[in-house]
Amino acid sequence: MSRSLLKWYDRSNRDMPWRRNPLPWWVWVSEIMLQQTRVDSVIGYFNRFIERYPSPQSLAESSLDELMGYWAGLGYYARARNLHKAANQVVDLHGGRVPNDPEKFRALAGVGRYTCAAVQSIAFGEPMAVLDGNVIRVLSRLERIDKNPKLATVKDQFWTLADALLDHERAGDFNQAMMELGATVCTPKKPKCLLCPLMDMCRARQEIDPETLPIRVPKKKRPVIQMVAGLSTAEDDSIWLVRRPEKGLLGGLWSLPMVQGDTHDALETLNLNPQDACQTVRHGFTHQIWDISTYPCEGKPICANFDEVRAFKVSEIKTLGLGGPSLKALRVCGIDLPRRRGAG
Ligand code: SF4
Repeated sequence: MSRSLLKWYDRSNRDMPWRRNPLPWWVWVSEIMLQQTRVDSVIGYFNRFIERYPSPQSLAESSLDELMGYWAGLGYYARARNLHKAANQVVDLHGGRVPNDPEKFRALAGVGRYTCAAVQSIAFGEPMAVLDGNVIRVLSRLERIDKNPKLATVKDQFWTLADALLDHERAGDFNQAMMELGATVCTPKKPKCLLCPLMDMCRARQEIDPETLPIRVPKKKRPVIQMVAGLSTAEDDSIWLVRRPEKGLLGGLWSLPMVQGDTHDALETLNLNPQDACQTVRHGFTHQIWDISTYPCEGKPICANFDEVRAFKVSEIKTLGLGGPSLKALRVCGIDLPRRRGAG
């Protein structure tokens, strides 16, 4: 199985900047960015990030605010905060070098079992298997596992299987090949079985319709939350923004003053007086949807829920780490801001 898979991978792997030069830091950054985000959305962010932060040291020396500017639009901002923290840990504890030691690496902020195995195998050749959504799909079809992979006990079985199949000589390539196969051939819909290097050993292809695996449990409907935002300008026409608290959704990012609730109460909480009719826009997160009504307002926002209040010029906002909902709300109010790809 490993020989067929690696032969296929050597022939057809996609060109990615972190593959051209698999330095531990590059691999690590790419793996963090790729969580929940598609490769084509990540490449531009990755290139800009590595140019600005070529080493853990350079990230550790940078402010979280600046980092958020490079991350804004990728979504899942806890990843960026953890990477910043982990870069500081690498400088303090490991002399600025990414540790080639799974135990030490796993102890860093934001490094879980998957990230540890991916970075240690790809960058250092450690024989550690990875398991992500793509690998689960390939394994469930290969071995015809018709159990819900979201259950902890079933997930453990997948980890065991991934470990058992791993090629110890080329662990990094094997892991990347499994993920690549899931992303490009063994796709959720219409898998390209006739192009698959594993077709002769795949139970799902021989016995059932592979599309039925892995077992999918229907997603819960996302709740729709009404948000009210205020667009208020200071005397020099700069726009009042607030910094969201570190913990929670869009944590640590700058945002329009925005709270949940109905208009009157919400704007009163923010200490803002509406001056005009609102513009509405919708923003979807993975687990909820925000319907945002943005009112042109007067006043300086205050709210106990925010960490900081500051006015920024539009030119500054363009480079600021601003969450997706605020970007959309500003745009719908006619403020010209760049579009970003990716989640969040
Ligand atoms: S044969 Fe088809 S279902 Fe089986 S692993 Fe390959 S692409 Fe997936």
